[in-house]
Amino acid sequence: MPNEAADLELAAVTKAYGETIAVDRVSLKIPAGTYCCLLGPSGCGKSSTLRMIAGHEFISDGDVVIGNQVVNDLPPAKRGTAMMFQNYALFPHLDVRDNVAFSLKMAGVGKAERRQRADELLDLVDMAKYGDRLPSQLSGGQQQRVALARALVTNPTVLLLDEPLSALDPFLRIRMRAELKRYQREFGISFVHVTHSQEEAMALADMVVVMNDGRIEQVGSPREVFNAPKTVFVAKFMGGHNVVPEGGKSYAVRADRIRLAQPGEAGTEAKVTDVEYQGMTVHVAMTRKDGTDLIATLPESEFDRSPVAAGDTVSVAWQPADRHELAA
Ligand code: ADP
Repeated sequence: MPNEAADLELAAVTKAYGETIAVDRVSLKIPAGTYCCLLGPSGCGKSSTLRMIAGHEFISDGDVVIGNQVVNDLPPAKRGTAMMFQNYALFPHLDVRDNVAFSLKMAGVGKAERRQRADELLDLVDMAKYGDRLPSQLSGGQQQRVALARALVTNPTVLLLDEPLSALDPFLRIRMRAELKRYQREFGISFVHVTHSQEEAMALADMVVVMNDGRIEQVGSPREVFNAPKTVFVAKFMGGHNVVPEGGKSYAVRADRIRLAQPGEAGTEAKVTDVEYQGMTVHVAMTRKDGTDLIATLPESEFDRSPVAAGDTVSVAWQPADRHELAA
């Protein structure tokens, strides 16, 4: 596979739709061979960012650089990128082989050569047997593999994926995300994957880019972003954290680091508002005297040692090292 991996850089990239600033001076360096997830709530500018990289959307300001080339004015097919869409966008009337070969046909590659190349790609995604089928004769997971083969057939330097797993049922989604990760490693190129699911981003990414309101809130590995959120937004969006105001500052404390103190132990008083059994863990929701809501996630066995119920007054505690200061 002669794929050439390339670095991708966004330099103060901005997208305005009339008065709406969808992407606000986003700067980001994605080294070649990175699995990068753009993560954030609906409307935060993820897809607009991806479409500007792909060339499906004009860049209002700033530069997109792939390898050493500013690609702002290049059409999509000349950027070395390929895009995989949410609904796969397979042609229903073309068989699998011709779907995969389609962009080679557009590029003027002869029939025998493009069919051979399509078959190579189908083999890579374990779909060699299905070349003669129509998309409607495939399962969701198989359609996704065909879409992936079709995107990779042009030897892109960067693959762009817009919510690629959202059309799949939860079971298949988990299986296909493992496959995406495996293909990214095998091809050695960067995948830039848009998702609103923090779980998906954590499972897949080398680099998580958390976006909010057209800007980047934080960039880091899944562990960095989860364990040391920099802002209130990131702590809340990643989940599993309490945001605790203290002394005029805000801190993040992971829900699994909050303990219910034993009688006589130091801690802050809180009232239990709800207890939810979750199987391996028990979620205890509490409100502190100052009105701060807290959630403690306790292993079932620990909860069982001193169970509490809604209405109980308890004392909560955490280690100082488990507290992370958040930017205002
Ligand atoms: P996300 O992918 O994170 O959901 P988008 O990039 O699709 O976010 O959208 C970011 C913002 O830009 C939203 O406020 C959205 O309504 C707006 N927007 C997106 N596409 C268009 C468009 N073609 N015209 C006008 N506004 C748009």
